Amino acid sequence: MTNPEVQKLLVMRKAFETVKKRQKANISKIPDLQERLHRLRVVREKYVGNPDIIEIAVENLKNNGFRVKFADNTEKAVKLLLKEINEEKVVVKSKSNVTKEINLEKELESKGINVIETDIGDRLIQILGEEPSHPTGPAAHLSVDYVVKVLNERFGINLERSPHAVIEYLKQDIKKYIDKANIGITGANAITAEGSVLILHNEGNVYEVMNRPRKWIILAGIDKFYPSIDEAVNAAKIQTFFATGAVSPSFIEIVSGVSKTADIEKKLYDGVHNPKEVVLILLDNNRSYLMNNGFREMFYCIGCGNCVVHCPSYSAFGGKFKGGRFALYSALYNGESDLELCLSCGRCKKNCPLGLDIPKMISKVRRGSELYNLLVSHAKWLTRAVYLETLAVYLTLRGELS
Ligand code: SF4
Ligand code: SF4
Repeated sequence: MTNPEVQKLLVMRKAFETVKKRQKANISKIPDLQERLHRLRVVREKYVGNPDIIEIAVENLKNNGFRVKFADNTEKAVKLLLKEINEEKVVVKSKSNVTKEINLEKELESKGINVIETDIGDRLIQILGEEPSHPTGPAAHLSVDYVVKVLNERFGINLERSPHAVIEYLKQDIKKYIDKANIGITGANAITAEGSVLILHNEGNVYEVMNRPRKWIILAGIDKFYPSIDEAVNAAKIQTFFATGAVSPSFIEIVSGVSKTADIEKKLYDGVHNPKEVVLILLDNNRSYLMNNGFREMFYCIGCGNCVVHCPSYSAFGGKFKGGRFALYSALYNGESDLELCLSCGRCKKNCPLGLDIPKMISKVRRGSELYNLLVSHAKWLTRAVYLETLAVYLTLRGELS
């Protein structure tokens, strides 16, 4: 019988192949892709961590009705969140790497607050107690057969073995909590100088989360600023293509403050429908320090995860080496991810829409000589890759890996 962790790795590799095929099929539908990539790189180089744009944007955000708070570190961010959540016992949230960074779920759960994920993949791994396998496809390592088996056993239900049945089950589960929650928490894909926040999603869940009756809280890093909505939309389009292979996301929310009307005497009145109150918490958490000490380029990242999809070491080792930019980030922030497993092959850089030089930044962080690291990483990877390939062929022949 195959080790379940290895089985998950093989499922994930197949899922990543699907993304690559979709990218290949759709690339001709974005004829100006190269020009868009260049624009994005120029914008990120100029504006990431730029104090002038942050100042202008924050002033405009406040004018638009956002309450803006700054958090230097994780502890401060959690304190601000607890204050905003106050006595509520259930909050719903959407996918966000920054909430993972501050370990939001664990921090709030320790204070008796139930944090419910509303993205299908995130809710699935939350229920199953799994680790996410990819920044935008957290459940890519789970086969339908495995998910149905575990859900049926754990909850005494009788789901049929189909993606549709799993999605319907999770949708009902998520809806129950959305209806209960007065507060929603999201991240942000971009914050613009005009004072707008931009969020991408495909499932429609972000719309539900941001429209909770009491409050919408946005938690975002200080690296998310863009000079205009146009440039933020360009980033959104590129992120979507490199994350999923689709030409555009199902939804782009561009929000410039609370719900308002000027229909009575042309005077502005806030809070007609939802959201009536929007709080934006801007997190530094070592970003300024890292930007000023040789890692500014890491923050140009738009979080598409394409470096992970193309990282041979991640394909071989899974969570032990988080892949591309996420391996670097995880080593810098949490001391996790075994950087000795990086092959310095450069595939992450080649497949990054912004051409981020991840291998160079990894070399800065890992200990020991480059030659020694290269010999060890290649020897470990080769052994593992041969084992996985052989196993994949064997399982395919037995019909256990479709
Ligand atoms: S250089 Fe390292 S992180 Fe980048 S793709 Fe190769 S193994 Fe992965
Ligand atoms: S480093 Fe590049 S490829 Fe990796 S997530 Fe960031 S933008 Fe995408």
